[in-house]
Amino acid sequence: MSDGVYNIMIIGSGPAGLTAAIYASRAQLGPVVFEGTEPGGQLTATMEIENFPGFPDGLKGEDLMQSFRRQAERFGARIIPKTIEKVDLLERPFRAWDGDGQLYRSHAVIIATGSSYKWLGLDSEQKLLGHGVSFCATCDGYFFREKEIAVVGGGDTAMEEALFLARLGSKVTVIHRRNQFRASKIMGDRVMEHPKIGVKWNSSVEEILGDPETTGVTGVRIRNTSTHEEEVVPCAGLFVAIGRSPNTAMFQGVLDMDRNGYLVTGPGNAGTSIEGVFACGEAQDNTYRQAITSAGSGAMAAIDAERWLAEIEVI
Ligand code: NDP
Repeated sequence: MSDGVYNIMIIGSGPAGLTAAIYASRAQLGPVVFEGTEPGGQLTATMEIENFPGFPDGLKGEDLMQSFRRQAERFGARIIPKTIEKVDLLERPFRAWDGDGQLYRSHAVIIATGSSYKWLGLDSEQKLLGHGVSFCATCDGYFFREKEIAVVGGGDTAMEEALFLARLGSKVTVIHRRNQFRASKIMGDRVMEHPKIGVKWNSSVEEILGDPETTGVTGVRIRNTSTHEEEVVPCAGLFVAIGRSPNTAMFQGVLDMDRNGYLVTGPGNAGTSIEGVFACGEAQDNTYRQAITSAGSGAMAAIDAERWLAEIEVI
């Protein structure tokens, strides 16, 4: 930092943000990281990570993110437990304000604000999160081998989750609020033709049943939206796949985004539509959404930022 201006400001502290921080701090750029509302990102809500290379025995999402954090701090990253709520990227140095109105300035910005799963909004969903309620089949599906599983949603994500889970579970029930999928026909057909997958149409989830301390999820109480009849679908796992949204509202009208609000980067690099502003992780990725791919894109963003700072002769 010189004259109160950081070299790099990183907004977000999931795998993308903290990997960017590790790379930027090892390059002696003294980055500042704003943790945001979910320190460590979504991974901290995952039961156990078994697909992050280098950890053959698996580990808790929380523990993995603590390691990322320690590694970033070891090389001098400054991690601030604040959320950036406003930015001005139209002039350099870039400016950002936290929730208390405190101003921060930096030469380069790395956006790693991630995305958020949409929730059903049920109390029981909160209560049983990590005890049978999950938002990610790739992450948690393995825990429900040979068990009954339910998936809520009718889009491509729900179809993909159901097809993936059908390889693991004894039976999968897709619960959808309408009588037609939103998903592409090919994905919907695959689900409907699958011998292990059944569909509950016109059904809304009223309550997720089970006890977080003892049984975990035991079933889902659903209501038919036409007949109003209720029934219980027994299951050990409920995957909520009703869409997600990137946390990019703050950049609306400033940075280029696709129609779903994902920041446009590249091609082949982490640059956004404003020079000196880089993006990584799920704020710009609607396709892969894995801790490892987010971390990889965080490294790209830090390397791109470092090269850009050298080019404009800040460092
Ligand atoms: P979508 O927005 O496409 O679908 C969300 C689904 O959840 C819809 O069926 C919607 O119902 C349902 N839903 C939304 N809110 C609620 C709620 N509160 N209660 C119950 N159900 C709800 O999101 P996806 O994540 O599925 O997909 C996002 C984008 O990514 C899409 O463009 C998709 O095509 C793409 N994608 C592509 C893939 C592929 O090609 N392999 C894989 C995954 C995603 P309703 O239909 O009634 O609105």
